Amino acid sequence: MTTKQSVDLILYPRWLAPMSATPAEAKAGAVAFLENHACVIHQGKTLDVLPQDECRQKYSAQFEYNLSKHLLMPGLFNGHAHSAMALLRGFADDYPLMTWLQEHIWPAEGKHVSESFVKTGSELAICEMLASGITCFNDMYFFPGTLGEVLRDAGLKGSISGPILEFPTPWAQNADEYLAKNTDLIQEFNKGGDIQFGYGPHAPYTVSNATFEKIIDQAQANNTWIHTHLHETAFEVQQSMTDFGMRPVARLAKLGLFDVHSQAVHMTQINDEDIENLAGKKCHIIHCPESNLKLASGFSPIQKLYNAGLNINIGTDGAASNNDLDMVSETRTAALLAKAVAEDAEAFPAYQAMYSATRGGALAYGRDKMGSIEAGFEADMIAVNLDDLNTQPVFDPIAQFVYASNNRQISHVWVNGKLVCEHGQVRVIDTDKVRHDVEQWRQKLKG
Ligand SMILES: [Zn+2]
Repeated sequence: MTTKQSVDLILYPRWLAPMSATPAEAKAGAVAFLENHACVIHQGKTLDVLPQDECRQKYSAQFEYNLSKHLLMPGLFNGHAHSAMALLRGFADDYPLMTWLQEHIWPAEGKHVSESFVKTGSELAICEMLASGITCFNDMYFFPGTLGEVLRDAGLKGSISGPILEFPTPWAQNADEYLAKNTDLIQEFNKGGDIQFGYGPHAPYTVSNATFEKIIDQAQANNTWIHTHLHETAFEVQQSMTDFGMRPVARLAKLGLFDVHSQAVHMTQINDEDIENLAGKKCHIIHCPESNLKLASGFSPIQKLYNAGLNINIGTDGAASNNDLDMVSETRTAALLAKAVAEDAEAFPAYQAMYSATRGGALAYGRDKMGSIEAGFEADMIAVNLDDLNTQPVFDPIAQFVYASNNRQISHVWVNGKLVCEHGQVRVIDTDKVRHDVEQWRQKLKG
């Protein structure tokens, strides 16, 4: 009798979606999901994926989970958030973007944003995101080092883009100070791997050409990315035509932004010339459909962008313009909206939607060994209980996840093979304390 190999953890799901095949490969017939396979996890990584019978012969583990009604899939990657803005959820609703920012959000932030605000807001957002199956996310907000510390203390992951603007805020006084503070954080955090920092110039209308040029140099020198809001509204495009005589995408292309690792968030109001400026470049698209809908910003033609060879990732944006941080509903909204925008029911099919919410995020942020369940990859994954009546019967678990499930069906969340959330209960942050601190902030913000 051969000795079984002892490992940390074995999961026995009914269905397993590795997300290894690209959407194009899946469309051409590659296997989208496996049935009755096991996932073997050791030292924070997936060690093996194999039929359950074989697994029982080959491996034994201290912890084993029988997930006989569940889909096991990579954790969701929220490609764009402003976590601490969870404290401003419901603070000002039903305004267009510039009114919302200039008359409500920016004045409140100017008065209240501090390390303490960011700590509590980030903890609130992270708890909500974990319970919704988000195992990594991008963030752009002030005092980003505070978010980095919250994640480090909890043993979680993040790809953080520290903000850069031309005007003063409680975090920095001018573009050079924002840039220098970001460079310090990149040098402090990026060695570890789980928490990485990049540069987050806020938008074309808040950052000058000279500052963009400095950021591009610094990003290359520090081997990191540049993350910016781009083509969020028609107003932004009109203003750029007035101020620069060209569309925002054309302006940033001319500066060389897309020749370096970058992410463009929103991308509404896109024409064929914009797509030509992006095709074949190192830019990834972060699509935030619910924020675009709520702020009436416009529609992003994501199937067209994907067809031009661009990688797509889905994001929630901040809770103040969504108003939740739920990537399950965001993914469904993205899938449905893409069909309406393309006027094509075959656009952005379920597999592509799930890929964009998982592996697409890992690729967008240069995390090559994340977002897929296969040997050697980081063991960040979630179990979704499809036994609820709203997801019965199961013909295709991927379609069921995208079109019929909700975030309360996410039963288990693992990061680096560690169970961080079970049945909605976060295990790595004290949620009672978060509730208490959030209430203190609500009273302060109410004034
Ligand atoms: Zn945003």
